[in-house]
Amino acid sequence: MIERSAAALLDSLSRGEMSAEALTAAFLAAIRQREPKVRAFLHVDEAGALEQARAVDLRRQRGEPLGPLAGLPVAVKDLLCTRGQRTTCASKVLEDFVPPYDAHVVTRLKQAGAILIGKTNLDEFAMGSSTENSAYQVTRNPWDLERTPGGSSGGSAAAVAAGEAPLALGTDTGGSIRQPASLCGVVGLKPTYGRVSRLGLVAFASSLDQVGPFAHDVAGVARLLEVIAGHDPRDSTSVDRPVPPYSQSLERPVKPLAIGVPREHFGAGLDAAVEQAVRAALALYQRLGAEVKEVSLPNSPHAIAAYYLVATAEASSNLARYDGVHYGHRAAVYDDLIHMVERSRGEGFGAEVKRRIMLGTFVLSAGYKDAYYLKALKVRRLIRTDFDRAFQECEVIAGPTSPTPAFKIGERTDDPLTMYLSDVYTIGANLAGIAGISIPCGFTGTGLPIGLQLQAPPFEEEKLLRIARLYERETDWHTRRPKLV
Ligand code: GLN
Repeated sequence: MIERSAAALLDSLSRGEMSAEALTAAFLAAIRQREPKVRAFLHVDEAGALEQARAVDLRRQRGEPLGPLAGLPVAVKDLLCTRGQRTTCASKVLEDFVPPYDAHVVTRLKQAGAILIGKTNLDEFAMGSSTENSAYQVTRNPWDLERTPGGSSGGSAAAVAAGEAPLALGTDTGGSIRQPASLCGVVGLKPTYGRVSRLGLVAFASSLDQVGPFAHDVAGVARLLEVIAGHDPRDSTSVDRPVPPYSQSLERPVKPLAIGVPREHFGAGLDAAVEQAVRAALALYQRLGAEVKEVSLPNSPHAIAAYYLVATAEASSNLARYDGVHYGHRAAVYDDLIHMVERSRGEGFGAEVKRRIMLGTFVLSAGYKDAYYLKALKVRRLIRTDFDRAFQECEVIAGPTSPTPAFKIGERTDDPLTMYLSDVYTIGANLAGIAGISIPCGFTGTGLPIGLQLQAPPFEEEKLLRIARLYERETDWHTRRPKLV
């Protein structure tokens, strides 16, 4: 049961072949059995999940209207506020934080009848690419327990890959949905900036953050996106545009279809097996009638630098609120107010978060702001212009999601720059505010998943999903599951 796709499970539920309670119990059993190895969850709400499932079953029995995800368990990254349930952001600072409200996307999940099964692990405040920066635990890649699931939404990606939840929510500021999806062999989508409300998403870099779905396949991602997308007046950056019924149009062909391949995404540092799998995927698109052509994103070599200026600047400002007064951890011993704030922050934040706050404070400081922060904003504009130009020639831009498959736990923790390079292909989409998806496109010789990234112009998620589905329909990578006893 737990190996099946979200769409198949929803069909079975609606036909009455199984109850939401039985389905939820099956996933809870999988969690109990597999979590000692995978450690994707920070909290599992066994009792609450079963209670929600019984409520759905009762509604169904009574013939009452049911939402589009009625009875289906969904795992939620612990960066999204859940009312009455701890939301730690994988930080000691928020160890005991219980939000008094739900994130907008969590409200949407509840309205859709989804079962909130638990909160997943992440890099502290979503800062990282391996989930190793969690203050609580290291999540393991279900395909190889010695390796990371990627990050920062590594818990959500691993939970889906491990069969612990059929759907999950993550967030993507620089690649945190697409990169772990790629490393865990699942589908993950970063929506256009403004497509999904950020209300109740704990802010890392507000101009880049976006919530998005994980699933085994494109249809699952489409169903979850349908539920979470749309205007929310409480987030001033959320855009008031209709939400297309993404899951209804997946099988419709896209014609003509031109796929742009940025030459800058096939340079130094790209793993040979990854390149081979991605090139094979492009060849398949060609056989299916697509025109595959080279495009250029000339400013993409500057994306990492621009991102680490913009993202850290915003983070330093956003994280100023954890002062020991308003939120979270407060030091037990201190002399005066300043000392209390210093100690509370010093004790509460992990090393990577401190590094980012210092970087961000520096690049915003008088005398350096023009040279670093404002310059980065200009580069960001150029990166957006690169994409706009490239999209005049193609429907989507395709390439590898991550330059390498899953790396070993500990391999990059001493070297922040190498870790930052994990996102070299994904960061551009965040800076430009466009949509991107990662879909499984093969395995390395040692059985590690490889992801294909497709990127589309703003608000073209419908087309993006259809083009992803075109490939998926012809391949079976998305049906493979790791062997976890
Ligand atoms: N890995 C990138 C970073 O560390 C992106 C993280 C994210 O998308 N949240 O900032």
